[in-house]
Amino acid sequence: KLFLASVSVVLIANRWNAPTFDPESLKGARVLVTGASTGIGEQMAYHYARFGAQIVITARREHVLKQVAERCLSLGAQKALYISADMSSESDPDKALSFALDQLGGLDYLVLNHIGPSPFSMWDGNVEHIRWIMKVNFFSYVKMAWKGLEALEKSKGSLVIVSSLLGKMASPFVAPYTSTKFALNGFFGSLQHELAMKNSNVSLTICTLGLIDTDNAMEKVKGKTDVPAYPAADAALSMIVAGATRQPEDYYPWFTFYVAATKDWFPSITRYTMRNSYTYEP
Ligand code: NDP
Repeated sequence: KLFLASVSVVLIANRWNAPTFDPESLKGARVLVTGASTGIGEQMAYHYARFGAQIVITARREHVLKQVAERCLSLGAQKALYISADMSSESDPDKALSFALDQLGGLDYLVLNHIGPSPFSMWDGNVEHIRWIMKVNFFSYVKMAWKGLEALEKSKGSLVIVSSLLGKMASPFVAPYTSTKFALNGFFGSLQHELAMKNSNVSLTICTLGLIDTDNAMEKVKGKTDVPAYPAADAALSMIVAGATRQPEDYYPWFTFYVAATKDWFPSITRYTMRNSYTYEP
């Protein structure tokens, strides 16, 4: 009873604290979304477009970016530009950010969302893959955030970091991926404190997502888990609202907040649940 009472108090407090989102605030906003050729990033681009933002999108596949940019324009984006960039390269993260700053004349929202492909399987000892995925999923985020901070400071802008419940609790089959998400949470958690202590104008939102129904994620977990997947468009909107209302954190779906908050209360139950959420025949 005490547990249920505490959960209700937290739920009600969260609702009372929820700031109002004004869609007009995104009209004309200058936005860069990475990993926007497919999945959640693509859905974020469409939402920003409907709100009338000026968007730059980036990923590796130029022809797909072109189609997404065209759809953004048809949905109402004031501008929709794209640049192909490989985030494992030393120079492309800088190149994409400079392009957005030049084309948009500054930046109000920097949404770092891309991830490189990584297997969903037991770790096979491939250290090179971990080195590579760290470049794509972590180092490029750090580089782009640092390069974007000055412009965001000027515009009182927002940095949105797309992370995962797997950045807060480890799961089997995703050792390289979960490492990059823990790294993001550590780095940007620290940066969030520093920005607040410096009275910076920049708000930083760290987003914790559960399983989302993007093609790539569904393909990976097919036949391996019964954990429900939630819609990419809703995940995208939740993060956009959190960024626009300058929230330090966003959790989607809602219960990921409670999973993250309670995972250490009964560690053996958490371990048992994690290992039994997947089908595996040794
Ligand atoms: P997708 O795999 O659908 O999309 C990944 C995007 O990143 C694509 O646009 C892809 O485009 C781009 N990308 C891949 N490799 C590179 C590279 N080397 N350089 C630049 N861009 C690259 O991912 P999701 O939409 O599923 O996930 C989006 C975010 O949400 C990620 O941060 C992920 O960790 C997080 N998340 C997702 C969950 C899920 O269940 N889907 C759960 C929890 C968190 P291209 O191939 O054209 O380069």
